[in-house]
Amino acid sequence: MRKNIVAGNWKMNTTVEEGIELADQINSRLEGKEKNCEVVICVPFTHLTSVNAVIDKDLMGLGAENCSEHEKGAYTGEVSAAMVKSTGASHVILGHSERRQYFGETNEQLLAKTQKALEHGLTPIFCVGEVLEERENGTFNDVVASQVEALFSLSPEAFSKIVIAYEPVWAIGTGKTATADQAEDMHAHIRKVIEDKYGKEIADNTSILYGGSCKPSNAKELFAKPDVDGGLIGGAALDADSFMGIIEAFD
Ligand code: PEP
Repeated sequence: MRKNIVAGNWKMNTTVEEGIELADQINSRLEGKEKNCEVVICVPFTHLTSVNAVIDKDLMGLGAENCSEHEKGAYTGEVSAAMVKSTGASHVILGHSERRQYFGETNEQLLAKTQKALEHGLTPIFCVGEVLEERENGTFNDVVASQVEALFSLSPEAFSKIVIAYEPVWAIGTGKTATADQAEDMHAHIRKVIEDKYGKEIADNTSILYGGSCKPSNAKELFAKPDVDGGLIGGAALDADSFMGIIEAFD
């Protein structure tokens, strides 16, 4: 059966020293705690090795926020999936709306990144989501379906290793959350799109996380929905108390 997951996305925040402290705080709070979800923290590339050294991998996973679609070579400034894996990381966020919007990442590129991540044993947390205009003009279901379908050349075995994060772009960092019903409707839609391609078993086993101004005060209502399997958390993941509050929404 699919897993419940709470994953933090630190984005371009914290120095290495601050990141170690935050990871350490989260780690201490998870020690001896019964939790009903998997926890992952996705941190800047510069932090991976040092954060890996202070966390207990039985308590939480570690992820990067991106990786290259290339294996290796003359790509100055890029970081490969093999490099990410070699830090001890287990996950990688791909296709975050900020990468699509500010860095022009395309569906084709994201498929190649996903393939590289999988080849190197990383679990992709693959983000999809519509912008405000698409929400308002009613095309949001088609937009999100086509983002998911960009991965449909993957084999069933490969696809079954992916975690999907639905993040309506209008809700990211805006304080404006999708209602639990809006989230549920989209998650059920995504699951149906997956089912139509890969069948019910893979669709039922795919974890679909919600992201977009998720916080301790709204996480319980969102996570109570049958197709919402946890959250990808931005701002609220930068504070150990609020991140723990979201993890505890599964208690
Ligand atoms: C995110 O960037 O993945 C995110 C969901 O951000 P926030 O929680 O701050 O809206």
